[in-house]
Amino acid sequence: MEDEVELALQDFRERTREAQGYCFTSIGREFQAAAVQDLRELKARLGELKRRRAGVGNEDAANTLLSLEYLVEAIVGELQMWTALKDDRARQAWDHLVGAQVAAGTAIRAHTVALSLNAEAYAEKLELLQRMVFPFQAFMSVAVVVESAECSICGAEDDQCEHVKGRPYMGEMCGRRITKIREMREVSLILPPEEPADRRCRITSISDGDVMRDKLTWRAVGPVPEREVPEGSAATGSASPPGRDNGE
Ligand SMILES: [Zn+2]
Repeated sequence: MEDEVELALQDFRERTREAQGYCFTSIGREFQAAAVQDLRELKARLGELKRRRAGVGNEDAANTLLSLEYLVEAIVGELQMWTALKDDRARQAWDHLVGAQVAAGTAIRAHTVALSLNAEAYAEKLELLQRMVFPFQAFMSVAVVVESAECSICGAEDDQCEHVKGRPYMGEMCGRRITKIREMREVSLILPPEEPADRRCRITSISDGDVMRDKLTWRAVGPVPEREVPEGSAATGSASPPGRDNGE
């Protein structure tokens, strides 16, 4: 590996080792917030080097740095989850954790350097955190018929190029940008062991007697809308407190 990338990797190892020492509930919020700032600066340095390596056509180096960028993003997400929980911002905490999970998975797909940095074990830790820190969640999934989509790398429409979705190209992950939706087919409820496409697409509140409760905090968030409680419906008083309905 070339010197500049090797130095970046060393920088990454030192910064992330320190930051991971702050990834615990009991650590002072100020250290976690400072670590987020430190990691953002690291990510900016990695991104700058990545663009320079991509500029001279060094794809392996560019994808290595892309992977490191995503790993940094994952740790930032975990730290932000902890600070959000301390601030009593449960929804943001959930979204930060999901962001961290997505970033860790993307880092693993971007380059094998992630495996040598134990990214798989870190991704497993994030899965475990989800189950230990938050109550069971249910998700929604939307099925749509896509009329047209374009490649995020070259802009070609409808798979008219050789880029493969989910693979890295010169320091960039390939995705499909949906440009037109023909129709919406269905909305479905996703429960384990099924996995939703997006864990941020959660059912945020459920009815409990005559109030709606937040699925993360169990706080009442308002009255049950009239039309959702038909007489004799099982929806009334059917909610379980957090953690009771996780089937485990
Ligand atoms: Zn393309």
